[in-house]
This record gives sequence, C-alpha cells and structure tokens, in this order.
Amino acid sequence: MCTDTNRRQLLGALGSGLAVGLVASEAKGATVTALGITCIDYRLVDDAVHFFDSHKMTKDYDQVSLAGASLAAVSAKFPSSNAAFWDHIGIAITLHHIKKVIMIDHRDCGAYKVAFGKDYKADHAGERAQHKAVMEEVKAKLAKLHPELQSEFYLMALDGKTERVI
Ligand SMILES: [Zn+2]
Repeated sequence: MCTDTNRRQLLGALGSGLAVGLVASEAKGATVTALGITCIDYRLVDDAVHFFDSHKMTKDYDQVSLAGASLAAVSAKFPSSNAAFWDHIGIAITLHHIKKVIMIDHRDCGAYKVAFGKDYKADHAGERAQHKAVMEEVKAKLAKLHPELQSEFYLMALDGKTERVI
C-alpha cells in the first residue's frame, strides 16, 4: 500500500539516488566513447539502440538523429542539418570528451531519395555505393575539422542487420 509517508520516503530515496548518480558522473568527467548519429526513421529507432547495446556501448554514447545520418553532414539539400551535425560533434566533445563518431545510415532512406532523386529499391549495390560516396566525403571533412576523432560508418538494412562500410 502506498501511503503518503511511504511515497515521501520513496521520492526522497529516488532524489538522493539521482544526486549520487550526478555527482559520480561529474567526478569521472562524464566521458563517453562516442557520438552516435542515426537517421530519424521510425522503423529503425529500436534497431539503432540494439546496435549500440550489441557493441557493448549501453550508456556509453551520445546520440543525435538527423534525416539521412551521414548525409546530414554534407548535403546542400539540408543546410540546417549540416550545421546541426557539426555543432553536435563539437558539443559532444566539449561535454563528454568523445573519441569517436559512429554514423549509421540505412537502406530505403527518404533523405537519400530527396537528395539524389532516386529510389534505390531495385539497385542494392548502387544504393550502397551512394552511401559509401557520401560517407567518404564526411570522413574527409571530419578528418580536417576533428583529426583527433576516430570514425565508423555503417549501413543498416530494414531488418536491422548492419554492415560496416568504411
Ligand atoms: Zn533515413
């Protein structure tokens, strides 16, 4: 039974637990390994979480979602995404001292269709090649702007299976 007294005790315990958690994370400098950048696509939100969990990165990454993922960094079609992409890398470095950026593009991406005017459903290899070209452009820009950061680029299928591209 949840009496008012019980409830107050419970909230007090939760509050002090939260405070202890914050102090502990500040003490270790709130460092995480990576910034994960994914597309916004609703079909793969859970798969992205599974990806990071399966790479033993649970609670060890920041995340930002922008339509197109790596495409957001460089596409002239999405200038405000370009800014947000690079801003958030800077923010993640400042706040959490990330060492790595992990980008997860995905197949059948609406942002890629908009940017390149092409539906890749029938062209599996061409779709991968298009993602790879964009990823190489992002990797080169990242190396210029943040040479201290490592990077990994992945392409996720709609069933959540992911392959590393570069
Ligand atoms: Zn997408």
